[in-house]
Amino acid sequence: MSPADWATKDFYQVLGVSKNASVDDIKKAYRKLARDNHPDSKPGDTAAEERFKSISEAYSVLSSAERRKEYDEQRSLFGAGGFRSPRPGQGRDFSDLFTGSDSGGFSDVFGGLFNNGRTTRSAQPRRGQDVDSETSLTFAQALEGITVSMQLSSDAACAACSGTGAKAGTMPRVCATCEGSGMQTSSQGGVFAMTEPCRQCLGRGLVVEDPCQVCHGSGRGVSTRTIQSRIPAGVRDGQKIRLRGKGAPGERGGPSGDLYVTVRVAPHPIFGRSNDNLTVTVPIRFDEAALGAEIGVPTVTGQVVTLKIPAGTPNGRTFRVKGRGAPRRDGTKGDLLVTVEVQTPTQLDDAARTAVEALRAASAHHDPRVELLSRGRQ
Ligand SMILES: [Zn+2]
Ligand SMILES: [Zn+2]
Repeated sequence: MSPADWATKDFYQVLGVSKNASVDDIKKAYRKLARDNHPDSKPGDTAAEERFKSISEAYSVLSSAERRKEYDEQRSLFGAGGFRSPRPGQGRDFSDLFTGSDSGGFSDVFGGLFNNGRTTRSAQPRRGQDVDSETSLTFAQALEGITVSMQLSSDAACAACSGTGAKAGTMPRVCATCEGSGMQTSSQGGVFAMTEPCRQCLGRGLVVEDPCQVCHGSGRGVSTRTIQSRIPAGVRDGQKIRLRGKGAPGERGGPSGDLYVTVRVAPHPIFGRSNDNLTVTVPIRFDEAALGAEIGVPTVTGQVVTLKIPAGTPNGRTFRVKGRGAPRRDGTKGDLLVTVEVQTPTQLDDAARTAVEALRAASAHHDPRVELLSRGRQ
């Protein structure tokens, strides 16, 4: 509905009232006609549906003193052979309501749709919402850092109806119950006046007659964007990275929100992570543990480094290889923590068996359980 239609429509005739009808007469006429022609009471009767729409439109204009005056003025101008659009500031300019501009009007009326049902009428810039996202990296990617592409979906106005909720080519009409204010005042016993969101339009101030088929009248849609984001080297599993200004766009010139990316790092088959350090378990032979040895140790870059094991190294001892861990923010690196695991041979060839038997003979005088057994007897 727009004032341009007004010139061709006789709202008084639609409601069956005189041009001088009082507000009460108009209200009464509307109620009766709306009841008689309500689509709920006459399902499938398209003629009644059309009548109901006309009645609602007529009432939405004539029930508001301000708009009725404007309408009367338009009609009289038309009758005199000249039709003008309302000047800005003269009454309510409906074209403002539906332009979808950021200057107020439309976005204010529909702001309620995207604001947990609250109707916002301020034209203040609003910062976009923060958005949470997640990205999965391999162990190596987390260590080296990587640029990832992320698809982000956020709430947006339905593209098909520009958020009006009304089918393409139609417009929502101003709610007749609250006259577009979205608020209803009810007085109780004449003492207390309560103002609450209009029940007819749920506070939107507008009623959709012909719902958009894409969003089913909600006006809500989803916008998807792809953003590139640099994940710094050395991120840990579960770490949250804040990307300033990559969240939902602001409204009415407000700044964008931030994007928080939670990083998921896949486990590595041999390396573990302990803060900035990497961990690895390396098997060694008994003789290497007993006599000492230089052993090859894998690093995460694929390079093999040499680690010196001293004589008499017990099972489970951890050695530190400096600078072979995860990158830190300052450019340095953590360490590689190497834990040795002494292996017991499961198969011995003749030479090895002879040697181990010789070792047994040589060690026979030493019983490692003497102290344990004596303490157990206490
Ligand atoms: Zn309403
Ligand atoms: Zn829609």
